[in-house]
This record gives sequence, C-alpha cells and structure tokens, in this order.
Amino acid sequence: MIVKENLSILLNNLPTKVTLVAVSKTKPITDIQEAYDAGQRIFGENKIQEMVNKYDALPKDIQWHMIGHLQRNKVKYMAHFVSLIHGVDSIKTLKEINKQATKHDRVIDCLLQAKIANEDSKFGMSFEEIKEILNSEEFLELKNINVVGLMGMASFSSDEDQLNREFGSLKALFDSLNKPNLKILSMGMSSDYEIAIKNGSNMIRVGSAIFGERNYLA
Ligand SMILES: *Cc1c(COP(=O)(O)O)cnc(C)c1O
Repeated sequence: MIVKENLSILLNNLPTKVTLVAVSKTKPITDIQEAYDAGQRIFGENKIQEMVNKYDALPKDIQWHMIGHLQRNKVKYMAHFVSLIHGVDSIKTLKEINKQATKHDRVIDCLLQAKIANEDSKFGMSFEEIKEILNSEEFLELKNINVVGLMGMASFSSDEDQLNREFGSLKALFDSLNKPNLKILSMGMSSDYEIAIKNGSNMIRVGSAIFGERNYLA
C-alpha cells in the first residue's frame, strides 16, 4: 500500500501541467502493478532489457519511457513499444532510433539530453551540439523520430542556488530554440523535482519518492 500512498501524496501536490514519470528501475512487477492499479500509466526504466521484460509482463496500456543512457545496439529491442526516449545524446543515436522505428512503421518520440550538471558522470550534450543537431540537414531527413523536447539532470547537490542555475539554464535554452515541436522539458527527480518545476519543468522522473530507496545503485 505504501506505493499507492506515496503516489497520491506526490500527485496531490503536482501542478496539472506537470507529467509524472514513475521511475520503476530495479523494482519488481508487483510494485509497478500497485502503481498501475492506483491509476499511474507512465513508467520510466533505465535498462532496455529490464524494460522489455516488464513490458511483456504488464498491461499494454502502460507508456514506457527509456530514461537511461542508451546503448545503440539495444535500441532494436524496444523499438516496437517504447513511448518516449529521454536520453538521446548524439545524432548517431537518433539515426539508430530512426532506423529501428522505420522497421516497425512507427515514429518514436525523443528528448535530447543536455548536460547541465558540472559532474563528469552525467551524460548529455552541450547546448551548442543540441542547436547544431536541430538545425542540421541529416536531422531533418529522419522521418521516423520526433524530437519533442529536452531532458537534463542537475548535479547531485543540495545547493539550491546551483540547482536553480542548472535547471534555469536548460529552461532558457528550451525557450530560445523556438521550435513548435519542442513541448516537453524533462527535469527533476525525487530530491529536486520541486526546484525543477519552479524552473519550468513539465515532466518529472521520480523513483525513490514513490517506490522507496533502491537496493543498489542503478
Ligand atoms: C533513477 C533516475 C531517476 C529517478 O531517481 P530518484 O532519485 O529515485 O527519483 C530519474 N532520472 C533518471 C535519468 C534516473 O536514472
């Protein structure tokens, strides 16, 4: 019952324009089913194989979001069902997603991941790279992907000024790009989603605040 309670506390305090991705990585099917029974339909995973196993086992109206760093050679395993890919950080990866989406006659929604943290461990592209991709010929030729927004992960820090700076910088980029297709700004996790929302996030990815702490680093 704790999953259901956590979920309703979270949702009660969320502005309606903010979409919740329930991050279920490492958590068992039973936890996801509990959240599903409480009405949650969007779940996020960071490993493709784990997401495929969960997709096979759970109701088909779940929207699965891939939030982790992508291994290009595994994109094919999720191309038939993935609903949104958050962590795209190169034109090469976009091309691979486009190729696999074409095989299934789908158009796959993607977010470009920007590096906003000042930590080497966080993936993502520079703002310049993002602008370059969006304005490139090779990008415009990819008909089976749809870049619908941006994603970023802030530093692992409790310094609110720093988090405001990092989230604020991505919001500024988002606004400056001025592309009508870009609608989603995915920022914020359990520890920092309130600050992310204040800085314009409209999609948060929350795991441990719903499902409890994970047993191992994922
Ligand atoms: C694990 C993860 C989350 C959720 O983290 P919590 O701190 O458990 O809310 C969000 N985004 C990404 C990219 C993740 O890998």
